[in-house]
Amino acid sequence: MLNKYDVAIVGGGITGMVLAHTLARHDMRVIFVIDSTDLTLQQAQSEQEKQNDRAFALSHNTISFLLRCGLLDECDINEEKRIDDILVIDESGKELVSISKADNANNSIGCMFSELKLRATIANKLKTVLHNIELLFVTSIDELYVDEEIVFMSCVSNGQKIEFKAKLLVAADGKDSFVRKHFNIPSYERSYEQVAMCFNIRHPYNIKNMAVEKFSTHSTIALLPYNSPYESSVVWILKNQNAEKLNAMSNDELEKILTLELYDLCGSVEIISNIQSYKLVEKKIRKLYHTRTAFIGDAGHVIHPLVGLGLNLGLHDVISLVQLILRYNTAQIDIGSMTLLEQYHCERRLQVNSVSFMTNAMHYMGVQSNSKFVRNMIKIGMNAFNYIDPLKRKIIQSI
Ligand SMILES: Cc1cc2nc3c(=O)[nH]c(=O)nc-3n(C[C@H](O)[C@H](O)[C@H](O)COP(=O)(O)OP(=O)(O)OC[C@H]3O[C@@H](n4cnc5c(N)ncnc54)[C@H](O)[C@@H]3O)c2cc1C
Repeated sequence: MLNKYDVAIVGGGITGMVLAHTLARHDMRVIFVIDSTDLTLQQAQSEQEKQNDRAFALSHNTISFLLRCGLLDECDINEEKRIDDILVIDESGKELVSISKADNANNSIGCMFSELKLRATIANKLKTVLHNIELLFVTSIDELYVDEEIVFMSCVSNGQKIEFKAKLLVAADGKDSFVRKHFNIPSYERSYEQVAMCFNIRHPYNIKNMAVEKFSTHSTIALLPYNSPYESSVVWILKNQNAEKLNAMSNDELEKILTLELYDLCGSVEIISNIQSYKLVEKKIRKLYHTRTAFIGDAGHVIHPLVGLGLNLGLHDVISLVQLILRYNTAQIDIGSMTLLEQYHCERRLQVNSVSFMTNAMHYMGVQSNSKFVRNMIKIGMNAFNYIDPLKRKIIQSI
C-alpha cells in the first residue's frame, strides 16, 4: 500500500523548511521533497556556498513569527544587524521617505540575516520534528498527478523509485517552479533588464542601525547594517549594460565609484566580500493555487528586490496557509479542498499585489525611467506617502 501523508512540500528553501517545521509541530504528517543537490538539509555547505553567502532583511513581523515557531532564538538576532530606521534619498541626498521605530509601534523595522546561517539554523530546528516529517532527497520527480481526491507523486531517491499520496501539495520550489511548469500554469514574466550586485563593505562612519536607499539616475544603492556599525551590506541595482561595465572593473575602481556615491553616508568604502550578481525578473501567477496545490514564496511571486520583501512575502504565505490548514484539519474538513485554496489565494492576493505595485513604482523612479517627468511624479508620490503617517504606519506594520 502507498504511504499517505497530509501534506507534500516540494522545495527545500526557507519557505519550504518553515512550512514543513510548522506543520509537523502541529502533528501533521509531512513529506518533504528536496532536490538532492540542495545541501542545507544534508548538513553540508560547500565552500562555494560559503563564499557566496548573502544578506537578507527580515521584517519585525516575520522575525516574531519565526521566534514564536521556535525557529530562531533571541541570540540569533544580532544587535549590529538591526534596522531601526529606513531613509530613502534622491541623488542630491534629499529625503524622500523616512521610516523609524515610531512608525512600527516602537519595534525595530527588521534585522539583517546571513542567508546561509538562517538556512542552517532552520534546518537544525527541523531535526526536532523529524518524527512527523519524511525527508526525501530526490534526483527526479517522474510522475505528479492531482485530482479531486488525491495528490500522487513518484520520485527517484537514492536510486530507488518512491511513490506516495498526499491530501495537499505545496509548491515551494522557487522562481523556476517545477510544479508550476508541470501543470502548465501560465505565469506573467518580465525581465527588469537590471542586475543587482550584492556584497559587503567596510567604512569609517558609524551608520547606527540605519538602512539607506539612494536613488540616482544611474543606479539605486541600498546600504544595510551588517556585522558592525562599520560594516554594511550593499545591494547595487544597475541597468544590464552598466552592470556589465562595472563587473569588468577591479575592486579598487569599484570602491572609488561607490565612495563617490556613499561618502556623505559612510565615508570611503572598502569591499570585503565576493560580489554576487543577480539578473532581476518579475514573475506572477494569476491564482496561487491549482487542484490540491498551493504555491508559496517565489514559486507564486517574484518581485524586485528594491524593498527587500520577497522572502518576507513568502513567509507571510506560510503563516496564512498554516492557519487555514490547521483550522480545516481541526474541523475535519479536507485540507486539499478548493475552498481552502481559494481562501488562501484571497488572503494573500492583496498584500502580494500591493507590495509588487509599490516595488514597481520605486523601480521606475530608480534606474529604469529615463523620463524626468515620471521620476518627478513618483518622487512627489513618495513625499506624499512620507507625510501621511497613518498610511505609512499601516503599511509598515502589516509587513
Ligand atoms: C538580490 C536579491 C536580494 C534580496 N533581498 C531580500 C531581502 O533582503 N529580504 C527578502 O525578504 N527577500 C529578499 N530577496 C528575495 C528572496 O531571495 C526570495 O524571495 C527567497 O529566497 C525565496 O525563497 P523560496 O523559499 O520561495 O525559494 P528558493 O529560495 O528559491 O527555494 C526554492 C527551493 O526549491 C528547490 N527546488 C527547485 N526545484 C525543485 C524540484 N524539482 N524538486 C525539489 N526541489 C526543488 C531549490 O533547490 C530550492 O532549495 C532578494 C532577492 C534578490 C535577487
